[in-house]
Amino acid sequence: MQHAAVAWVAPAMRFYLFLALTAYSALTAAEPQICRWLGDKTAAVSFTFDDGPAVHVRDLAPRLEANGMRGTFFIIVGRTPDAPQTGPKAMISWPELRDAAQRGHEIGNHSWTHRDLRKVTDLDHEIVASAERIREQVGVAPLSFAWPFCKSTPEAKALCLRHHLAERGYHPLYEGTYDPAKALAETEAAMAAGSWLVRLSHGIDGAAFSSHLADLVSRPVWVAPYGTVAAYAAARERAKIAWTATEASGGSLAVTLDDQAPATLRQTTLTVAIAAPGTEVPTSEPGTIVRRVGERVLIDLIPDGRAVRLRW
Ligand SMILES: [Zn+2]
Repeated sequence: MQHAAVAWVAPAMRFYLFLALTAYSALTAAEPQICRWLGDKTAAVSFTFDDGPAVHVRDLAPRLEANGMRGTFFIIVGRTPDAPQTGPKAMISWPELRDAAQRGHEIGNHSWTHRDLRKVTDLDHEIVASAERIREQVGVAPLSFAWPFCKSTPEAKALCLRHHLAERGYHPLYEGTYDPAKALAETEAAMAAGSWLVRLSHGIDGAAFSSHLADLVSRPVWVAPYGTVAAYAAARERAKIAWTATEASGGSLAVTLDDQAPATLRQTTLTVAIAAPGTEVPTSEPGTIVRRVGERVLIDLIPDGRAVRLRW
């Protein structure tokens, strides 16, 4: 009799165990994660241009725009003219910077005078007043600061990061008729590592730049201004996901940041991926961008804590 009872219970236990494991694997399979880069791209690339010669916005910015990309122009505030200049030494003027910002480029701060900031006493003027002047003239406060000569001190860095989201130091130079094979190899290395490739240029040959961008546009990399990528990385690190699977193929998703996070990060779009086997096209409320990519659903949203309902 005992044997018969065991024989009756055991299949039932196996059945409940099966159910429990199935439910567990369904939940873990759907556990959402924030993608390393926007749109679940493999790597991020930022083109940064220092010192503000007019050719940056007149020649290089349109080449980026032709490929749907935007760059960062680090300007020297004290050398920025009020009106467009002509000639080979023309600097980008304030009206040209305003136009570039309106087209989506980042205008970054490269100090007021471009002195070595390890050797000056008026750091407030070089770092804080210059940021304020950019905000007044361009209409947007600079997210990023690039160090003159790529040199800083801990004190200067601390002051800088109280007034900017990000600072940029040295990166290998990308200048002149840069070897396209080398540029490509660097991009592929960043893709293999899932990393952020930052380009630092003073002047890159237009034709060489265009041919590199034409190659880049076909690859799964996120090309965005320095401050935009820095904001994504910072928001990603501070984000908390709340996910409730309310049905077999859907649920409620909200992303929040900690209370100390800067306001800029709360407006930074993050991409969340949820494993979602099948072929159903996902839906959500209007205003949220969702799409299926293979066995996953990708959701672009800002980390403001608002719950987004999803079905697929
Ligand atoms: Zn410089």
